Amino acid sequence: MKGFKTRLRDGLLIIAITGWTFVGAAIAQETIRVGLMDLNATDSFRCQSAQGNYEWVLPDGQKLGPLKGMPTVTSHNGGFQISSVEFPEPLPYVILQPVSIDARLRIVTSAVGYRQYPGALHFVHVDDIPQFIMESTLEDYLPGVLATEVGKGHAMSFYAAHAMISRTYATKSMGRHRMAGFDLCDQVHCQVFDGTSTVNDTLQRGCQSTRSLILVDRLGRAATTAFHSNCGGKTWAGSDVWSDQLPYLQSVDDAACADAPHARWSQTVPRQEWDEFWSLHEADSMQGLLTARKRYGWPSASFQINPDSLRPDVYKVVGSGFGHGVGLCQEGAMQRALSGATAWEILQHYYNGVRLSKSDQL
Ligand SMILES: [Zn+2]
Ligand SMILES: [Zn+2]
Repeated sequence: MKGFKTRLRDGLLIIAITGWTFVGAAIAQETIRVGLMDLNATDSFRCQSAQGNYEWVLPDGQKLGPLKGMPTVTSHNGGFQISSVEFPEPLPYVILQPVSIDARLRIVTSAVGYRQYPGALHFVHVDDIPQFIMESTLEDYLPGVLATEVGKGHAMSFYAAHAMISRTYATKSMGRHRMAGFDLCDQVHCQVFDGTSTVNDTLQRGCQSTRSLILVDRLGRAATTAFHSNCGGKTWAGSDVWSDQLPYLQSVDDAACADAPHARWSQTVPRQEWDEFWSLHEADSMQGLLTARKRYGWPSASFQINPDSLRPDVYKVVGSGFGHGVGLCQEGAMQRALSGATAWEILQHYYNGVRLSKSDQL
């Protein structure tokens, strides 16, 4: 297809911005483009409207007709063929664009099964490889992030706190994958996002109750909202683990996570190997703890090495916590929410001195 320029001279991928999110909305909402890496290189899948209506559109705005039934989309000869759309040759770039603001799209593939996405879905062939990019409002994307990252069954103030963390991260990271044509990927590299099919009312209300709110530092810049599963009783300062000296990432005590699933762990390590390793790192013990965690794949850098009375050739390693230990402790925050803490009380405990701001006021 002539006229579908998907690349600039410098290799930057151009993604058509559909602008649909602003149609009919009283207030303009921030748009986010998410690279759906789980779907990449998918050769064939089926799609269907789960809610509202969609239409097939080319990047120049030409409409190819409504999405009807559950057509099959096949990647073929450098483009896409859609079973319900007649076109003389495969389309290198086509968009499923929502007609209504609350539309949701259902995708079924053999690789990932069933996924549901808000907003528009861009189908793009880049170097003959099919790629998929979701374009939605930031607020429609967030519940899917929380559903994937923290799951169901939590108190609403925990969801509200985590929504502000994840919204801050997304705002701060906009354009991280600009050269690939989207803002964030859907993997752990950015924020894990498996769509919105498992979003429930409590989670949705937690996100909506903090709409547009992000955490900023004293200078009004989006904060680095680090978080982890369990701190083991005390969080680490950011400067302990990374080189950054951020005033709001200080070490704080946390009794709330003491009985949580990831509070304790144990391992063994060969005695001679450990003695040799530690003799090289003892002089710089914090760095030694971090290096040991990385080398042995331990859940955290908080641990004690004890003799094993039954096995003289190994040490027992008794550890606490799970993750890097900086910022918000998720299991502590979950418990605080169950005990009645508000979202803001939770955030103030783990991020000392941050303020709230609107994401559009940065
Ligand atoms: Zn990423
Ligand atoms: Zn904790």
